Amino acid sequence: MKKENGAHKYRRDTLLAHLGRHPEAHDGAVNPPVYHASTILSANMAEWEARRDPSKRFDVVRYGLLGTPTTFALEEAIAAIEGGYRAMLMSSGLAAITAALQACVKCGDHVLMVDSCYGPARNFCEKVLTRCGVATTYYDPLIGDEIARLMRPNTRVVYVESPGSLTFEVQDIAAIAAAAHEAGAKVLMDNTWASPYLFPSFLHGVDVSIHAATKYIVGHSDVMLGAVITTEDMYLPVRTMAADLGHCAGPDDAYFALRGLRTLSVRLERHEKNALAVARWLQTRPEVSRVLYPALPEDPGHELWKRDFLGASGLFGVVLKPASKGAVYAMIDALDLFGIGSSWGGYESLILPTHPERGRTATRWTSEGPSLRLHIGLEDPQDLIEDLERGFHHLRVPAAAA
Ligand SMILES: *Cc1c(COP(=O)(O)O)cnc(C)c1O
Repeated sequence: MKKENGAHKYRRDTLLAHLGRHPEAHDGAVNPPVYHASTILSANMAEWEARRDPSKRFDVVRYGLLGTPTTFALEEAIAAIEGGYRAMLMSSGLAAITAALQACVKCGDHVLMVDSCYGPARNFCEKVLTRCGVATTYYDPLIGDEIARLMRPNTRVVYVESPGSLTFEVQDIAAIAAAAHEAGAKVLMDNTWASPYLFPSFLHGVDVSIHAATKYIVGHSDVMLGAVITTEDMYLPVRTMAADLGHCAGPDDAYFALRGLRTLSVRLERHEKNALAVARWLQTRPEVSRVLYPALPEDPGHELWKRDFLGASGLFGVVLKPASKGAVYAMIDALDLFGIGSSWGGYESLILPTHPERGRTATRWTSEGPSLRLHIGLEDPQDLIEDLERGFHHLRVPAAAA
């Protein structure tokens, strides 16, 4: 965009193509160049002093840790896409989670954490927050406005993640946020599944939106990166905590993420289309008990998902009919196109066995058989279906369940 402040008048796909680009500042280059910089030199002491104006701490280039034109460009684009005030980058999604939590609590405070949260977020509460004198209570992801009953005078954070990791429950974020704000707590959301594009969290009352940019924003399985987007209110507290903790993101990683962001909407559209095709096929299979994907009309979270989300990404769960671990492993080993590996959000398909029942404390997760998590990539979905069909030959279905 050649004119300042164009962000207000354009639609989101246009913003994805244009935000964070400043060719006039970079000899006309379409993409902001990669600034490899720790030390930033000042021409004289007056400039040194001007750069160190505390009110501009996160607005000017003064030290690599606090940002460069490359990271500022990505932050500008990510914040605008989700509709937040400003964004900041960290070295990983997990660093974004922990810095955001640390910014909101002190010794003696209380956190309400969704029982279906990303495992390492729970681990941080158990291992680190406990040691700092911060108590955590886990709650049912389907609690809705009943969360008001769990609020304590010292509850500072209600942490949500929707759909839930591994189990994909859709949360009523607006109802939870209303109850949290009523009690004076902030709402922190892990919004990684939807990315900044498919869930405009701030319209639903979220104060701090957390992303593993490692997943869909980067989109190519080659970078670790975290992002936090906040309301105006929460910007300085979180940004200051992140800087105090020494968090930052590498310049090449920020560059790759900005490049990934340009195609976020077209990739997500295809991920959803492919995932729906594979999920619908899985629903017809005798080996499958349930598919956990809110984009399916049969999913218990479908109505809420339709109300709140602008689309679905390509990650979902599958509960199989009873089968032995050996049979499940043989099925996965027989697949040709699905990779076996952590993370997701890249252009390629992945599969892993999951154990949602192991992480829970507030609710019980019961399943009829083994669980899987599938990430559906940008391959032709018919090839993915044929690959899974081949894999299913290795699953022996008990006669009674068939
Ligand atoms: C992967 C993931 C994270 C952590 O991101 P990293 O960049 O791997 O640290 C956080 N939340 C969710 C829901 C994730 O899937």
